[in-house]
Amino acid sequence: MSITTQIVHLRSSLPPHVELVAVSKTHPVEAIEEAYQAGQRRFGESRPQELKAKYEVLPKDICWHMIGHLQTNKIKYIAPFVTLIESVDSARLCEAIEREAAKCDRVIDILLEVHVAAEASKTGWEPTELIAYIESGAIDALTHLRVRGIMGIASNTDDEAVIRADFDHLHHLYQQLQPRFGSSFDTLSMGMSDDYPLAIACGSTSVRIGSMIFGERSYPQP
Ligand SMILES: *Cc1c(COP(=O)(O)O)cnc(C)c1O
Repeated sequence: MSITTQIVHLRSSLPPHVELVAVSKTHPVEAIEEAYQAGQRRFGESRPQELKAKYEVLPKDICWHMIGHLQTNKIKYIAPFVTLIESVDSARLCEAIEREAAKCDRVIDILLEVHVAAEASKTGWEPTELIAYIESGAIDALTHLRVRGIMGIASNTDDEAVIRADFDHLHHLYQQLQPRFGSSFDTLSMGMSDDYPLAIACGSTSVRIGSMIFGERSYPQP
């Protein structure tokens, strides 16, 4: 199916409160242009330089989400324009984003990435570490960051019960943290091509969908 067909199908089938982030990493600008023509404005990328290069040549009303592991020395590529950094997984990264955001005189929206999956390789905060960090109050001093919610990835398995347990875990944590941050804490980013219907059933407000829209990726992701 074409990119246009997939975008139209997805946008009509998602509940109105669920945002669609089209994950365009590794795909050429022509593919993003096709999705844009179909009305899509929100795109996710996982490499800062690739994100910046696409930003520069594509329409400026696109909202860019950074969804991949971010090294502190690469924040500078995206800090001036990025809409949301979803993959914030350490205190050190929070502090580095704070500095870059201040340089640009911006408040940057972020999600805290939480590790709930079975695989050890996946990035993100352990839930208990994240809660301890938030309770320390250190994040409140970072006035150029606005915490919009949390992001997570479910275990890589066919066992639906395991995936559901991961999503329930993320949803529980999201609800637990919400009163702490108030009404701007409104985003629970979970669900990808293979598991987004289940993520939505478990309370997702934002799905990150790549291969279902753009087809298989041509280079492997780290
Ligand atoms: C690549 C990626 C996606 C999209 O995955 P698909 O299975 O292609 O939909 C979503 N979230 C993150 C964090 C990713 O790195």
